[in-house]
Amino acid sequence: MRVLVVEDEFRMAALLKRGLEEDGYAVDVASTGPDAVWQAGEFDYDAVLLDLMLPGLDGVEVCRRLRGAGRWMPVLMLTARDAIGDRVDGLDAGADDYLAKPFSFAELSARVRALIRRGGVERPTRLEVSDLCLDPATRRAWRGDAELELSSKEFALLELFMRHPGQVLTRTRILEHVWDFAYEGVSNVVDQYVLYLRRKIDRPFAVEQLETVRGAGYRLRAEPGRCDSP
Ligand code: CA
Repeated sequence: MRVLVVEDEFRMAALLKRGLEEDGYAVDVASTGPDAVWQAGEFDYDAVLLDLMLPGLDGVEVCRRLRGAGRWMPVLMLTARDAIGDRVDGLDAGADDYLAKPFSFAELSARVRALIRRGGVERPTRLEVSDLCLDPATRRAWRGDAELELSSKEFALLELFMRHPGQVLTRTRILEHVWDFAYEGVSNVVDQYVLYLRRKIDRPFAVEQLETVRGAGYRLRAEPGRCDSP
């Protein structure tokens, strides 16, 4: 899951980025209104955290422009004031929710989770693909009744595959959603993590559900079977 944080105050932006990364998200930061409009128009974010007071264009205007351009990712508006006028303007401009500063990170984290779950379209709380089951809220996953021990990157990768069962995902698409925009590590990081994931979700169960599609990317086969996790 990839999130855009739009915040001009450096310390706040860094705090949000670190916290959200610990929650397993890939996080990009934009620090002006125009940058936010550009980035959210260019990339597919699963949610946008949008500060109200920004240089260039304010949060309300950023939100209005995104909606006007047909960008429907969930938007959580952050406002320094608990003024009712700001809240109404934000919601009128198409924000999905708002949070007044100061807020606790736990609260923000819960709101982001709820927004992503709701999404632009109806999304299930739990994802099930054959006997794989994943719960984004509790960050737990199972194969049948066996719980899978996944790192936060492995979990994010499995979640992405489970949101697109049977579809080929290119390395670029995977990189964009699971690692952030500024990622400059080794180029085969996706292949490495697919390998790690297979060692946990496939090999111990003698299945080959996460397959390589030569020259294209990877696909999680949507096989018959049912999840019977607790
Ligand atoms: Ca600000």
